[in-house]
Amino acid sequence: MYANVIIEYGAKAVDREFSYIIPSELTDKIKVGHRVIVPFNNRDIEGFVLGISNKYDGEYKLSEIKDVCDEEPILNNEMLYLGEEIQKNILCSKISIYQAMLPKALKASYGTNIGIKKKRYIKLNISYEEANKFLNECKYSKQIEIVEKLITTDKILVDVMTSSINTLLKKGIICEEFIEVDRYQSHISGKYKVVELNMQQDAVVKSVNLDKHDTYLLFGITGSGKTEVYMELIDKVLKMEKTAIMLVPEISLTPQIVDRFVTRFGTDVAILHSGLSDYERYDEYRKIMDGRVKIVVGARSAIFAPLKNIGIIIIDEEHTSTYKQDTNPRYHARDVAILRGKYHNAPVILGSATPTLESFARAKKGVYKLLTLTKRAAAGKLPMVNIVDMKNEIKKGNFILSKVLINKIQEKLNKNEQVILLLNRRGYSSILTCRDCGNVIKCPNCDITLTYHKSSNTNRCHYCNYSVKNVNACPVCGSDNMKDYGLGTEKLEEELNRLFDARIIRMDMDTTSKRGMHEKIIEAFGNHEYDILLGTQMIAKGLDFPLVTLVGVINADSSLNIPDFRSAETTFQLLSQVSGRAGRGDLEGEVIIQTYNPDNYSIIYAKEHNYLKFYEDEMKIRKTLSYPPYFYITLVNISSRDYELGFSEANKIGKYLKQNLSTDTKVLGPTIANVFKINNVYHYQCVIKYKYDDKLNSVLNKLDEIYKINSKVDVAIDVNPVRM
Ligand code: ADP
Ligand code: ZN
Ligand code: ZN
Repeated sequence: MYANVIIEYGAKAVDREFSYIIPSELTDKIKVGHRVIVPFNNRDIEGFVLGISNKYDGEYKLSEIKDVCDEEPILNNEMLYLGEEIQKNILCSKISIYQAMLPKALKASYGTNIGIKKKRYIKLNISYEEANKFLNECKYSKQIEIVEKLITTDKILVDVMTSSINTLLKKGIICEEFIEVDRYQSHISGKYKVVELNMQQDAVVKSVNLDKHDTYLLFGITGSGKTEVYMELIDKVLKMEKTAIMLVPEISLTPQIVDRFVTRFGTDVAILHSGLSDYERYDEYRKIMDGRVKIVVGARSAIFAPLKNIGIIIIDEEHTSTYKQDTNPRYHARDVAILRGKYHNAPVILGSATPTLESFARAKKGVYKLLTLTKRAAAGKLPMVNIVDMKNEIKKGNFILSKVLINKIQEKLNKNEQVILLLNRRGYSSILTCRDCGNVIKCPNCDITLTYHKSSNTNRCHYCNYSVKNVNACPVCGSDNMKDYGLGTEKLEEELNRLFDARIIRMDMDTTSKRGMHEKIIEAFGNHEYDILLGTQMIAKGLDFPLVTLVGVINADSSLNIPDFRSAETTFQLLSQVSGRAGRGDLEGEVIIQTYNPDNYSIIYAKEHNYLKFYEDEMKIRKTLSYPPYFYITLVNISSRDYELGFSEANKIGKYLKQNLSTDTKVLGPTIANVFKINNVYHYQCVIKYKYDDKLNSVLNKLDEIYKINSKVDVAIDVNPVRM
């Protein structure tokens, strides 16, 4: 018998199935999907069996499979099928897709050790009579102490091995037992109570046909009770003896949703948290595979959860860009969800208050079924939004906070209510320049200015993590006449502390690098231990605090100024999401948006809570400029450490694309990428726009083949990119 085995081998060049002989002693043990050990280039590596046959017509002399790694196949039929389908849509190696589906412990790799964390316990290995006899004869007090303890307690945890323990082990008086450490437990507040659905919610639940596959877009304003709808649908699915997947943008940012799920569904839920250790992740994976849990809640990769008999897949906040992986394999969780929905004949629900234009356009065309929730579920109304033109404010000397926002914050503090402030930039200030020679301090590895972080007194690059002590002197002319511009969360926090007598907490990547910090901050703010929560876009998602009556956006322009055709859409989404945090309880909420572009349509429509108008205007622009959803886009990123070589290869690639793709397809570039130099690598890009191009796949595949073996120039192909 012969097996086709796919392996992952260092270089990007290997993405083929290789044939191996199945030795007779393994024929009964090896099935398709099994992980096996095979010899390759003089070493033993792991791979997956993708096919088995009883003849081989190639001309090579084949080697034998050395061993099989697991009792059961790791890849089941559905996963094998998904691998095939995903590869058709995005250009990547098949092995990379299978690896992405699995926890580290089950990936095919060389010498993986997930460091199973178990604790050492000792217990008695002899009868009580024998133990008593030992106590009478033994002369060593330490050993006596241990044995005496073990007579009264079942087992003792051993943190440090002592010579007494070693001796007792050697004599066979005691033995060891290893027990898994407690797995990560999400904190349950128990505050959540099941509510009765209102008429709109009820109508939505009833319009979902749970017996067949369809993709639904649930377009519901912030606070309209989408999460309640999800839970009700899942409840029904469980009653049909089926299972459910629920994706959220990031678990640690949405502890309240997790709380609601765990409270309602108890041990039926597995939470795939990014804070899980490799071992814990493996453990959860086994639980899912063995059918010990019925609901999986997690971020992007949870879409591959090996649940059987799936009855529904839900993607909350479907517009979130992190649902697309930005490294190989560049899959989008939404596409995988739809593939799995079809496979299991189960509905897929995409939920958002601000759907992507692509999804909403599909819903309008009837490709997705549109469901809507137009009213807030609890008593609250959508907040009043005011726009403040910062051009006028800086004339009055208000650089950070406008007069209106300062007054409003004070007003809320006086009433003992809470405030959320969004500033989408961490650090203290973003630009340090020398007033004498005009030098701007930049990262030595990237084409980016360094951000000053006051708390650590360092200048840091947010792209490559380069960090250098701030010396307050110009590295070019030595002058100490340095000035910092640009506003980050650290400076905002300092300003707030100067202006208000309030309890202030900051949430950004710098304050949440330790595991569990997101949850701690969110919980403390929820318990009203703080009055003001300020932070980056982390604070915009999914939080539900009834006491928050004011949301302030400090600089609405930061996302608008990003050179990406989606910048208006992401600005509208961010402003709508963060505004949605205000007035969710009985108290009315209000929002203040500070901007230098008060006339921008994305800001005005966010103020008016008018998604539909935003959609219409933005669609017109997309049509004029041939962008999605009217055209598809594929991005070809060409990068090299060698500036000249990158440039010339990028030009070659641009020419190749223009000559070989269909005439209706537009090829733009090559141009330099948004950030030209990152970590000493230069980036160029070509943008391909097309409606339908039957040559595209083969042309890109060929490009990929050529550059796979080029060690100096890297070509990354991103089909339907979410970021330019
Ligand atoms: P969304 O996910 O659309 O932002 P949520 O499901 O979080 O909305 O609901 C917003 C708030 O309204 C929550 O505090 C929730 O408990 C409450 N809520 C939802 N549905 C109802 C209902 N039918 N009756 C009363 N309160 C509700
Ligand atoms: Zn200088
Ligand atoms: Zn850098």
